[in-house]
Amino acid sequence: MSQPIPVNTPLLSGNELKYLTECIETGWISSEGPFITKFESEFSKYVNRKHGVAVSNGSAALDIAIKAVGLGKGDEVIMPTFTIISPVQSVVTAGAVPVLVDSDPVTWNMDVSQIEAKITDKTKAILVVHIYGLPVEMDAVVELCKKHNLLLIEDAAEMHGQTYNGKMCGSFGDISIFSFYPNKHITTGEGGMIVCDDQKIADKCKKLRNLAFEPNGPRFIHYELGWNYRMTNLQAALGLAQLEKINHHITKKREIGNAYQEGLKDLKGFQLPLSKTEYADNIYWVYGMVGETEQTSKTMLAKLSEAKIGTRPFFWCIHEQPVFNQMGLFINEKYPVAEKLARNGFYVPSGLGLSNEEIQTVIKTILDK
Ligand SMILES: *Cc1c(COP(=O)(O)O)cnc(C)c1O
Repeated sequence: MSQPIPVNTPLLSGNELKYLTECIETGWISSEGPFITKFESEFSKYVNRKHGVAVSNGSAALDIAIKAVGLGKGDEVIMPTFTIISPVQSVVTAGAVPVLVDSDPVTWNMDVSQIEAKITDKTKAILVVHIYGLPVEMDAVVELCKKHNLLLIEDAAEMHGQTYNGKMCGSFGDISIFSFYPNKHITTGEGGMIVCDDQKIADKCKKLRNLAFEPNGPRFIHYELGWNYRMTNLQAALGLAQLEKINHHITKKREIGNAYQEGLKDLKGFQLPLSKTEYADNIYWVYGMVGETEQTSKTMLAKLSEAKIGTRPFFWCIHEQPVFNQMGLFINEKYPVAEKLARNGFYVPSGLGLSNEEIQTVIKTILDK
């Protein structure tokens, strides 16, 4: 029998060990140390932003971002129902109100044509989440934000190095965030970063990640609440080593995606990712598949599981999350496209550590009758 193929394996092939050793040898292991500021400045430069604030994970970055731009009680934030819970959780815990839109059936991103009808006099922001490999149609979103004077928040956790019409994802938002979880394009084990161009917002983020200590005030006197969401020098050391190889990682991601596209092009009964749109080439953060019916997917998942090939279901819709329904949110709301994606969608091994041989094994297993 062949070896199991995990759904994700990270690629740690650069200066990771060297920089980590440096942390140990110099004793800089906490959230102070030279790698943190270096990683912040190099990564923010990479995505064309003036400021970067490194934090403990991508969800923490969202908590801080929402608070840093002043969203709070009663403010409505328009966002996709088809997403990981993190951005919605951040909005809800800030006391703001998520207002959901359905997905585009082809790109799986939020259907931007549905946004304007959801704008009310309480709407304060649009929060876009770039999903799985293709960016949200940003021109339409940017225009709506201008027209209605709304903040733009960008969850680019899956999109390091992806562009929309040549412009970096993460460079559109008044505030944008990234994650460095091990299945993202570069990893720090756990980690995240907030990026923006406004010095005041960046300073606010730095304060919020550090228990809202007053940067210049007397120590241990607090005027608001923050979090301990600091990134360590150890994480930043990893991040810097990974960032040095980001172009290689992105090339590899696209090679993996293209190998699946080629190998599965005659597969019946499944919708595969779009290779490209007029504004972006797919970066294949993960390689997703959507069965024509729930049963088509179930049968395929059983076959892959039997062959010890790792898979993950797609995100579950936010409007169907028990935790939000129990809070009285999204009751009786229906988003048919997202509901189908959530029920019939899954992804196959897509991590940077995947070998060509493993990709061919996955393809063969999928095509196997
Ligand atoms: C991974 C991810 C996050 C959360 O990042 P963590 O570092 O795991 O907290 C947020 N949003 C999206 C779209 C993600 O894919």
